[in-house]
Amino acid sequence: MGEFDLIERYFRRPARRAALGVGDDCALLQAAPGTQLAISCDMLVQGRHFLSTVDPRKLGHKALAVNLSDLAACGARPLAFTLALALPSADDAWLAPFSQGLFELADAHDCELIGGDTTQGPLNICITVFGEVPAPDGRSQALLRSGARPGDDLYVSGTLGDARLALEVFRGTVSLPAHIFEAARRRMEQPTPRVALGLALRGVATAAIDVSDGLLGDLGHLLRLSGVGASVNADAAAGLVAARAPSGQGNRLPGAEFELAQWRDWALAGGDDYELLFTAPPTARARIDHAARSSQTPVTCIGRIEPQRGLRLLDNENRELPNTYTSFDHFA
Ligand code: ADP
Ligand code: MG
Repeated sequence: MGEFDLIERYFRRPARRAALGVGDDCALLQAAPGTQLAISCDMLVQGRHFLSTVDPRKLGHKALAVNLSDLAACGARPLAFTLALALPSADDAWLAPFSQGLFELADAHDCELIGGDTTQGPLNICITVFGEVPAPDGRSQALLRSGARPGDDLYVSGTLGDARLALEVFRGTVSLPAHIFEAARRRMEQPTPRVALGLALRGVATAAIDVSDGLLGDLGHLLRLSGVGASVNADAAAGLVAARAPSGQGNRLPGAEFELAQWRDWALAGGDDYELLFTAPPTARARIDHAARSSQTPVTCIGRIEPQRGLRLLDNENRELPNTYTSFDHFA
């Protein structure tokens, strides 16, 4: 199979929204009047972002999911994406499930593959997504990292730390009962981009970011760009590790008694969560509740924005904890 057969067989589908899709030198996308395009790019490298043993179908899902998560953080509606792919060989047994996983998630979000590039090389997947945000009279409704204000509540969606827990099982540093491991592994391999929540938060949240490198690290970006500080309840965050209370029954993880400090570490610095971290004033609590319910995405208040810069970590008794957490940095 040659390069162009490969594109034809696995990646070319009839254009829907795009004025011109796969096949020409450029794709053409019609921007709707009164809107802005939200654009984001994420690369996944074997050995860095995924293990060589990962199921290609799950990899197809994750490659797009991490990009959709960035659109979600901006409150953008997904429109289209491009796919740049380096592959060791044109292997049907890899391409068929990869493209299936990719298109399953793409179709679920009505996000169209409009172009890309394909080359031989070490496995590397680079996706650029295009989304849309309303901008009536040029006033953008995009959610930004820079809008948090003193007094705002600090919220996070969904669960934290489970992807990291699964990674530790793969690394052999932790062992878990099979059903708990499977759930954590799904969080690592097939994260759910919080697109519906991001859309529901437009006009409600003052700032947002998606949590990809670890909660405290990503919070640091939001605080810096907003010129504020925050206090965070580490125990509230630690309570959001799904593996800690499997099946939502509140029963503690059987057979593996981890220290509270360990749960805090996974929740605050785990990475690969793809949840939304966002702020809103206390007057917006009912609207946050409504956004969570309408998007069927749980959200939890884990802290407060403060005028003085820096981060204060507190436990459930309001005692200050040392902040020794480091989040992921490719070159650190
Ligand atoms: P060019 O050399 O002009 O950049 P290519 O020959 O690389 O174009 O690609 C031919 C067409 O196939 C283009 O429309 C390109 O966007 C598309 N394409 C290439 N690789 C992919 C891919 N992995 N997924 C989707 N479309 C692709
Ligand atoms: Mg060309």
